[in-house]
Amino acid sequence: MALIVQKFGGSSVADADKIRNVARIITETYRRGHSVLAVLSAQGDTTDDLIEKSREINRNPSRREMDMLLSTGEQISIALCAMAIERMGYQAISLTGWQAGMLTDSSYSSARIKRIRTERIRKELDKKKIVLVAGFQGINKYDDITTLGRGGSDTSAVALAAALQADLCQIYTDVDGVYTADPRTVQGARKLEEITFDEMLELASLGAQVLHNRSVEMAKRYNVNLEVLSSFTGNPGTKVKEVVKTMEKMHVSGVAKDKNIARLALVGLEDRPGIAFKIFSLLGKRNVNVDLILQSIGRNGSKDISFTVALPDAQLAKEVMEENREAIGFQSVELNENVAKVSIVGAGLAHNAGVASKMFEALYNAGININMISTSEIKVSVLVDERDAERAVQAIHDRFFSEFGNG
Ligand code: ADP
Ligand code: ASP
Ligand code: MG
Repeated sequence: MALIVQKFGGSSVADADKIRNVARIITETYRRGHSVLAVLSAQGDTTDDLIEKSREINRNPSRREMDMLLSTGEQISIALCAMAIERMGYQAISLTGWQAGMLTDSSYSSARIKRIRTERIRKELDKKKIVLVAGFQGINKYDDITTLGRGGSDTSAVALAAALQADLCQIYTDVDGVYTADPRTVQGARKLEEITFDEMLELASLGAQVLHNRSVEMAKRYNVNLEVLSSFTGNPGTKVKEVVKTMEKMHVSGVAKDKNIARLALVGLEDRPGIAFKIFSLLGKRNVNVDLILQSIGRNGSKDISFTVALPDAQLAKEVMEENREAIGFQSVELNENVAKVSIVGAGLAHNAGVASKMFEALYNAGININMISTSEIKVSVLVDERDAERAVQAIHDRFFSEFGNG
């Protein structure tokens, strides 16, 4: 008998029929003799709708109250699913984050799980109950509800699987696995039978929302047996693991796009030591994370620096720069919110010199201009205009994955 954690995303529990379908998947696993703990997300667009509701009242609410509001969505799902399971003649119990012992830090809206007190869950599993836990939420040291950030139910599930040393953690979603690119928008995207934790972590961090990036980080750290599959088709999914069979062969495992990004450019900086330090330490103090950075060659004592930040931080980053204009010393700051980052990810990239040039060639052939470039062991990212993003992904994907372009 195994302990299996199953997570169902918003589209898998969107209405009564879908909840019944999820209850069927859970009870079938249970009938095969396994202990089952299921983590559920809020139904369909519930979280977005709740955000909208808050805007009608206050456009700048405290993050504590926002978490109080957003956590309600998951609570609806677990109660309804428990009812569906009861109706099918099995015993189920739903638990909120705090009942399930999910202890987090105090960063409302982006809390991190610190520890899970598993006693209550174990007690219910020992009673042979199916346990349903509200995803995306926990409780902090002040006994306040916190949420883990958008898409965070994946992280709840993996954290529970790690804490309970579950035999398997299945992430059920609306596509039947991890693809070489978003199968909803990219023609010819292929399902991967397996992918390494490292590649999946990059893809998730670079915009493929199929898994929350922190869930992958945690799965790697605790070596959780992780699988992504569809709650609708019954097809085999994608295994996410430390080592995969195809490792040497594959150069590129996927293409991802991130539109949640903005670029700031500081023009007319003095070309002297300490400028970059000043800029990025000021941003760091205000908790603004910087991603791509580009510095021009100094000419006549003057240089430019541009960098990207997450879109929600863009206005703050601009304000911080303007407030410190004198101290930093620049002529102007320009903010462009209409940019997107497109990336290729693959384990062997650093050792395949031709891969980046193939990517640039694909963009050139599609007439797409590159604004910034960044490379690492495992990825190559380019910044393009937002309106070119979809075309860029398709062109790059065609180059690496179409029958004729593969290589
Ligand atoms: P859930 O509500 O189940 O958590 P999400 O919407 O968070 O589901 O994630 C699933 C979606 O991720 C898919 O519908 C798909 O459009 C998108 N996606 C983006 N990139 C990929 C990829 N490389 N492989 C699979 N799905 C992807
Ligand atoms: N309901 C939350 C969200 O929409 C968490 C999740 O779905 O994982 O972001
Ligand atoms: Mg998700």
